[in-house]
Amino acid sequence: MEDRSQKLFERAKRRIPGGVNSPVRAYTAVGCTPRFIESAKGSRIRDVDGKEYIDYVCSWGPGILGAAHPRVVRAVQEAAESGLSYGAPTEREVELAELIAEMVPSIEVSRLVNSGTEAVMGAIRTARGYTGRDKIIKFRGCYHGHSDALLVKTGSAALTTSVPDSAGVPGGATKDTLIAEFNDEVSVAELFLANPGKIAAVIVEPVPANMGVVMPKWPFLRFLRDITNRNGTLLIFDEVITGFRLAPGGAQEYYKVRPDLTTLGKIAGGGMPLGVYGGRREIMDMVSPVGPVYQAGTLSGNPIATAAGLETLRILKEDPQIYTRLEEKTRQLADTAREAGGDRVSVNQIGSLMSIFFTENGVNDYKKAVSSDTETYADYFRYMLDHGIYLAPSQFEAMFVSDAHTQEDIEETCQRLREYLKL
Ligand SMILES: *Cc1c(COP(=O)(O)O)cnc(C)c1O
Repeated sequence: MEDRSQKLFERAKRRIPGGVNSPVRAYTAVGCTPRFIESAKGSRIRDVDGKEYIDYVCSWGPGILGAAHPRVVRAVQEAAESGLSYGAPTEREVELAELIAEMVPSIEVSRLVNSGTEAVMGAIRTARGYTGRDKIIKFRGCYHGHSDALLVKTGSAALTTSVPDSAGVPGGATKDTLIAEFNDEVSVAELFLANPGKIAAVIVEPVPANMGVVMPKWPFLRFLRDITNRNGTLLIFDEVITGFRLAPGGAQEYYKVRPDLTTLGKIAGGGMPLGVYGGRREIMDMVSPVGPVYQAGTLSGNPIATAAGLETLRILKEDPQIYTRLEEKTRQLADTAREAGGDRVSVNQIGSLMSIFFTENGVNDYKKAVSSDTETYADYFRYMLDHGIYLAPSQFEAMFVSDAHTQEDIEETCQRLREYLKL
């Protein structure tokens, strides 16, 4: 066992809950010690014991250009020289809001926050303020950050009761959150029928990537657009992962479905803490100081985060071929996994997002995703880690491919996939 990671983990556990600042990092699901990271560059991540890996976590999504892209690093350094934070408006915030509107046309007006969690909180408050309604619909297995109202699971009577999915969340905080099944139109229609005129918003990851990657069946997203329109309900796409990843304009461009509000994060901050919520002007005019929906932040629009996000989006916009390259590389990985894994695996891949589920017959909903053999995933994870491939330490997180992954990286990874899956 690598010594320094092990020692640091022991030290960390004395002063930090579970030794980590976000639970999945503790490697609980895969039964080994998390690697403490020293540095990352391009497609490679290096731990404190000097071991190098091909990185398919990419900081859980932000690293679409790979780690420490020289242009992004330079933008951050230059911004830092001019002051780390002012708490006052800057030109780069305007440029970023303009670029976001250009790349994601449904976002006419946007507000910057510091995380995806905050972006979702802002979008939901805005939707409630705009519609004057309280209830929202979310989908089982979709993740929207750790705010109270969204840490929710179905109660005993699924149609009518939702209960907190975390200790410390009061029942009152989740009573207006209704839960539907992704890719199941009937489950959504039933909630609308049971709650006429009460639903402020439907929030969805247009391509769920937090139960592993699951693709929307045609025309599920179109159906959500129609049923929300008919009911005066806002449609919120949580594109914190898919935004700028599936296409310059995210999943809404990929599937040609226009939501009312969108949340962004991860890539939008280029590796710095930054979230965005935005949408139609008329709706965003609800947000303070124009409208009555209060939302604020000391570090919102932080100049360093804004510089990193802006430079990242500029690079993506300048070179749309990035998306073709990402698709090709990721498809190569997916094809290899399908071929080598046969019936033992279900492989979902779209753009640079991918999941290998250890279950057969395809995965297109939450129920099927959780039927996966997580013991085998853990075994696969450890094999790949031992052989220099750094994957998400959970069956239910996506594999992220970046523009920095070289053809050699992909081929080496395919080789390891064949070795493991054919065992
Ligand atoms: C990561 C994620 C969030 C939360 O973002 P944080 O920056 O971790 O708060 C919200 N929604 C989706 C879809 C995410 O993947």
